[in-house]
Amino acid sequence: MTDLAPAPDTADPQSPDTPTGPAEAAPAARNGFDALDLPEALRSAVDALGFTSPSPIQEQAIPSLLEGRDVIGVAQTGTGKTAAFGLPLLAAVDPSVREVQGLVLAPTRELAMQVAEAISSFAASVGGLDVIAVYGGSPYGPQERALSRGAQVVVGTPGRVMDHMRRATLKLDMVRFAVLDEADEMLRMGFAEDVEEILSHSPAARQLALFSATMPPAIRRVATEHMKDPVRVSVSPQSSTVSSVKQSYAVVPFRHRTGALARVLATTEAKAAIVFVRTRAAAEEVGAALIERGLIAASISGDVAQKDRERIVGRLRDGSLQVLVATDVAARGLDVDRIGLVVNFDVPREPEAYVHRIGRTGRAGRSGEAITFIGPHERRALKNIERATKQTLAEAEVPSPRDVSRHRLRTVLAQVPERAQRGRLELYRELIAEFLAEGTMEASELAAVLAAMTVGDDGPGTRPEDEEFTGATLAGGQGPRGGGPKPEHGYTSYRIGVGHSHGARPPSIVGAITGEGGLDGKDVGKISIFGNFALVQIRGELTEDQLARIGRARVGGRALRIAPDTGPRGGGKGPAQRRDGDRSRRRGDRVDAKRKSFGRP
Ligand code: AMP
Repeated sequence: MTDLAPAPDTADPQSPDTPTGPAEAAPAARNGFDALDLPEALRSAVDALGFTSPSPIQEQAIPSLLEGRDVIGVAQTGTGKTAAFGLPLLAAVDPSVREVQGLVLAPTRELAMQVAEAISSFAASVGGLDVIAVYGGSPYGPQERALSRGAQVVVGTPGRVMDHMRRATLKLDMVRFAVLDEADEMLRMGFAEDVEEILSHSPAARQLALFSATMPPAIRRVATEHMKDPVRVSVSPQSSTVSSVKQSYAVVPFRHRTGALARVLATTEAKAAIVFVRTRAAAEEVGAALIERGLIAASISGDVAQKDRERIVGRLRDGSLQVLVATDVAARGLDVDRIGLVVNFDVPREPEAYVHRIGRTGRAGRSGEAITFIGPHERRALKNIERATKQTLAEAEVPSPRDVSRHRLRTVLAQVPERAQRGRLELYRELIAEFLAEGTMEASELAAVLAAMTVGDDGPGTRPEDEEFTGATLAGGQGPRGGGPKPEHGYTSYRIGVGHSHGARPPSIVGAITGEGGLDGKDVGKISIFGNFALVQIRGELTEDQLARIGRARVGGRALRIAPDTGPRGGGKGPAQRRDGDRSRRRGDRVDAKRKSFGRP
């Protein structure tokens, strides 16, 4: 068996250690932004984004900008400069006036989009405020329509901003706050004249903030000419987060990545992890694969609504979410102390993205870990990152199925002394003595069997190949005849009226059943999902009242309609429905999703 064989099946769903709810109280610390005098709506946006204390550049720049002063900031990407100018910019804008009042110039289309997105996220709770990005290489129409609808904040590349000015689709006479972001880069790219021209078309009384990684003479000239008595602030390049994160890489061919990822997650000590992927589609796919494996995972990409994003960040923070799969853009600004591990599912294209990604861990003075998966031919991309971050990454081995089992059992064994101390073991001692007295097994053999049962696998590497999760082998004809898997002792099998065709997945089913039935996650056992229904094992028996309440709960827009499972020929169902059920069982279209723990058995 190779190292990259899939992970063994994991812990018993009834494991008392399966985390099911908040594990840590939220810290009651004051938010460091309180001292900055931001308007209330922006203050709550900062909270929602999970920023707990201002970064040095924010601490230095925000007060002066809120006072109306011009500011020159020497700061690189990753220092939090966007919020340093974005928050004061929004504070200067009157949302009831539908004219351009805030203008940010940025050297590239990517940066313009990123900055516009960041400012939108700061403005999420300011009603009636629109932020748009304008850049070259994309049609004028949508940008013009957004401008004519009265966006108050425009983030653009100098060339396209000039074009809109010439077409009279962008007027700058109401601009109160202008920003030159990455000014050195704009000059290097030959935008000096455009920048001059744009600034001279904005009102003289407007405020100006200039951010730049370096301060060549040309930038000083812009400052002298267009700024009034600017306040100078600067921060040294970000190094602290990067150095507090233990970084490594592993060579993993693409088709083995989901399996490798699952094993990395199964052996981590981290409370929560972020997995970075490049595209929205990959975020959804990887997220779904992890959920199929029983991890409590969610994915977000750049186009997720602010509300959903806040909800997901909240779940990461309170411990009800273990793994977040995210694109670079979606994870901007994410600041959650619990994140102890970052996995780069692929190599980030830009070293800056790498620094940003790994900066999601090791926060608030904690240590963090980051592992980057690279393909066999991607060493060059790795070298770029190493050069840019001035460090070499250690090569790591992806945990093998053996490592996963070992980790799980060790975690259990580590709890043995404490459990022994708690006592009340007389009954078990007696039963074990009786069993051993039968003479069928040595004590050490019995202990090994009990260990395997506790860890919940059949020994390392017993799972089918990774491809199981692509659906190909899911339809592999192993569907149960009759009422699905035999319920474990003490469990009753129930049938619910949602299945694959309704997009049902184990976490949403568990959520609906526990939420409406007042059950604990531990009461929900094995879930087998079929085409248009699913079978769920539940500890004990549900009362009429619980059946009624769970039956009304909805998953994928459909009521659960829960009822005791009576097998394929059982009564109570209309013939058509029953036949459907039979057909999907014959196809063997099933997923057995045991709920698993994360890093712990
Ligand atoms: P920037 O330098 O503006 O590109 O920001 C780098 C990253 O840090 C972005 O993902 C920001 O959202 C995030 N960030 C900015 N300010 C803070 C803060 N005060 N606390 C935590 N994260 C922040």
